Amino acid sequence: MYKRILLKLSGESLMGSKQYGIDEVRLAEYAQQIKEVAELGVQIGIVIGGGNIFRGLTGAGKGFDRVKGDQMGMLATTINALALSSALTSIGQKARVLTAVNMFPIGEQYSKWKAIEVMEKGEIAILAGGTGCPYFTTDTGSALRGIEIEADVMLKGTRVDGIYTADPEKDPTATKFDKITYDEIYHKGLKVMDLTATTLCRDNKLPIIVFNMDKNGNLLKVMKGDGIGTLVYEG
Ligand code: UDP
Repeated sequence: MYKRILLKLSGESLMGSKQYGIDEVRLAEYAQQIKEVAELGVQIGIVIGGGNIFRGLTGAGKGFDRVKGDQMGMLATTINALALSSALTSIGQKARVLTAVNMFPIGEQYSKWKAIEVMEKGEIAILAGGTGCPYFTTDTGSALRGIEIEADVMLKGTRVDGIYTADPEKDPTATKFDKITYDEIYHKGLKVMDLTATTLCRDNKLPIIVFNMDKNGNLLKVMKGDGIGTLVYEG
């Protein structure tokens, strides 16, 4: 079993059945799944997106300055991080928010060593604000943090159960890969994550598991090696 994981949660999936913002039911389900795994003694770092609130690129399309839009997106990830830490704390799981840029007292400023110290105490380290830089995504932020904190694996929780030959929501003939190499992702042009994130994982040999986090119990199954999802590896 993995000793230390970096879990990436998309902001969009926090919306649940809503059109915008945070669905409390989905949030509580995520918190429960995370607690179950923490109770096994696994050290957990989490990077959460902000797409349920604001995306810089969408803002730029509406006339926002891109850098300011991205900063708004990074603040959106921080809102989600606070919501998740609150949901975890309310069920008795300690968690701390570490932010990419200084926002004290909303969170403590992130450093690799602070994050490791938090995780070694059995608390969940929620790493907010992505990379802290515009023009990046939280997928890249999670690849970066995964490498920095020396995670054994990056778990990308999505609403589909792995990587498919085509978008399974559009193409009924699409089939799922049990495992795939980073290079196959490039060559087949699969849209798993942005290329910056994929490249960072490949160059630093951080394996990725893409799985459906919206099904209760799946995070535990991934941890127990039940073979759900798709493993991305070096080959
Ligand atoms: N963002 C950024 N730098 C980062 C991470 C995120 O500028 O390192 C901004 C960017 O505008 C992005 C938004 O924050 O659109 C929300 O993150 P993302 O779109 O990755 O969220 P998700 O798709 O996972 O919900």
